[in-house]
Amino acid sequence: MRCPFCNAAETKVIDSRLVSEGNQIRRRRECLGCAERFTTYEVAELLMPRIIKSNNLPEPFNETKLRNGILKALEKRPVSMETVDAAVNQIKHELQSMGEREVPALQLGELVMEQLKRIDHVAYVRFASVYRSFQDLEEFRQEIDKLSREQVVDILPKGS
Ligand SMILES: [Zn+2]
Repeated sequence: MRCPFCNAAETKVIDSRLVSEGNQIRRRRECLGCAERFTTYEVAELLMPRIIKSNNLPEPFNETKLRNGILKALEKRPVSMETVDAAVNQIKHELQSMGEREVPALQLGELVMEQLKRIDHVAYVRFASVYRSFQDLEEFRQEIDKLSREQVVDILPKGS
């Protein structure tokens, strides 16, 4: 990189060390032109992608909105806030590791469903029924049957 003092193109790294608990690399550089020294920091760029809604309009990733959606599905379910936080962090991690600048909202919905399926089957079906908008009742029922085989769920209103 260019020297900030004389703008020379050639600089050399004279020292390089991990700082900030290993999340940053600090480099001391020396200009080959004017011999001035300066410091640069290198950090991994982990940006949250923008979320593309079904109307094709992007909006910034909103952690509060994500958390509220999960909490709504988990209403009156015996799940701790630590579990919710862990799920939110896992989803954020997966979004970041995609390395995409934009992610369709449906794909984010799938990530949420994966987490809910693991945490609480009732919440999963609640969320999925709204989010995936099952093609028809039969598809919805199949999904519930699938879950019921793994764990007894009692979510259908009586008589249905
Ligand atoms: Zn220089």
